[in-house]
Amino acid sequence: MYVVTRIILECKSCYRAYCTMVIMNKDYVNTIKELSGSNVYIKDKKKVNEIINELVQAGINKLQIVLDFDKTVTKQHVNGVKQYSSFGIFEKCPSLPASYLAAVTHLNEKYMPIEFNPGIPRAEKQKHMEDWWRLSEETLIGLTVSQLEIEEVVKNIQPPLRDGCSEFFNNATKENVPILIFSAGLGQTVMSVLKYHGILSENVKVVANFLKYDENGVIQGFRDNIIINVFNKNESVLSGTEYYQTIKDRTNAIVAGDSLGDASMFDCVANKQSILKIGFLYDHMEENLSAYMDTFDIVLADDQTMNVPHAIFKCIT
Ligand SMILES: [Mg+2]
Repeated sequence: MYVVTRIILECKSCYRAYCTMVIMNKDYVNTIKELSGSNVYIKDKKKVNEIINELVQAGINKLQIVLDFDKTVTKQHVNGVKQYSSFGIFEKCPSLPASYLAAVTHLNEKYMPIEFNPGIPRAEKQKHMEDWWRLSEETLIGLTVSQLEIEEVVKNIQPPLRDGCSEFFNNATKENVPILIFSAGLGQTVMSVLKYHGILSENVKVVANFLKYDENGVIQGFRDNIIINVFNKNESVLSGTEYYQTIKDRTNAIVAGDSLGDASMFDCVANKQSILKIGFLYDHMEENLSAYMDTFDIVLADDQTMNVPHAIFKCIT
């Protein structure tokens, strides 16, 4: 009797192990049709399969979505025409004085080549980026551009979201999955664009550089004394915030961005487990592909849609 019981138990145990193995071995990379495009680059397919399997098995309650904003939620280009960034949209506000625009142009001409110069070490770049954002903040102080004016400019420009972005956000809202938009851009513009497209739902949280106003509507600089730049989008900005507390049990994430620094946006979560990093590559594709493939699990070259993150999300729901 003991032997029979033991055989049954062992068989059950083997069957469970077999089932687990079958689930573990599901080949998402080759079955998700959105990953079959010639513009999809994956350095380690086995690793990507393992991560997607982990995300699926842990389930929707363990998941959060972390997205950069400029050129990630919005398109990188439309028919070859590059799209406005959140600061670029702000610069279209009609009440801005010419002196502000001249100062911004001067700063962009000085610091943009530094940001994209591969020969400058990261630490040195970071120092320059901090200087850039601090000087940018100084140029804003004393201006009176209102949220309403920014919203009007957004209505005129109609910045396009990636194709399928609204559906992706709506599905995440339906499943109560938090979306963190983590941006070095201008918070008020980011909020206006999301609102304009009707995707600023309860589950969407924006962490960005928000303008601080005094009681007369005069800009005092950025809120919270922390300026987010492209090199500090990580724990140094997020830890300790209220949002960090609300998402701390969601240990898995789909992270997407268009800059290499975006890949570390989820590094702030102390008990993080499974993270799938998706990179949107458009500028200087050939020379940047290798670095993007080293940094992101999946690289999408000139993909102006949210189809891949959405397809993977649907596997988890
Ligand atoms: Mg970006």
